[in-house]
Amino acid sequence: MKLQSALNFSHTLLKEIVQPGDTVIDATAGKGNDTLFLAQLVGKKGHVYGFDIQAKAVELTQQLIDNNNVRKQTTVINDGHENVTKYVTEPITAAIFNLGYLPAGDHSIVTKPTTTLESVQSIMQQLKKNGVIILVVYYGHPGGEKEKERILQFAQSLDQHVYNVLQYQFINQIHEPPILLALQKR
Ligand code: SAH
Repeated sequence: MKLQSALNFSHTLLKEIVQPGDTVIDATAGKGNDTLFLAQLVGKKGHVYGFDIQAKAVELTQQLIDNNNVRKQTTVINDGHENVTKYVTEPITAAIFNLGYLPAGDHSIVTKPTTTLESVQSIMQQLKKNGVIILVVYYGHPGGEKEKERILQFAQSLDQHVYNVLQYQFINQIHEPPILLALQKR
């Protein structure tokens, strides 16, 4: 057994928590890998909402969804995740954020601390008991360090009676190894 990357560990956690029929969110759809992964976990009776502000990302994600026959349980939305409550009103079991820029795309389009936190706080209002919000925090780009600080500060401030908050990271790697944060409602 090998210790998993933050990205792989996010999938391990989602697989444990998400059940068929659940409603879940991919807050940063990108190329659509997480949207597809979640669509397969929730099945035809569940639903995944994928968000991205880039039309290109929405297109790529929708294609991946169509090619894998999971269209029924998937809605891909070309809007910011800070507007999540406009689209999702039911209780949520899990949400995933991959912060930073889309590696294959425009590196100047990045997630921002204010909108990221706005979205996290909205989702928290709708999160079911034992539901999780996972953030994979990439912070090597301009502005990334600031976003990391804001999010860590927010996550650390959550009442331990209400949320269990996990931080997972390789701490001996050069450059900026991504950090996984998992917020689980108790
Ligand atoms: N850094 C990660 C990938 C992050 S992709 C990695 O290396 O794997 C982040 C995605 O979030 C991008 O596609 C970007 O367009 C999207 N994004 C940025 N701000 C957003 C917002 N407010 N709402 C929804 N998506 C957003």
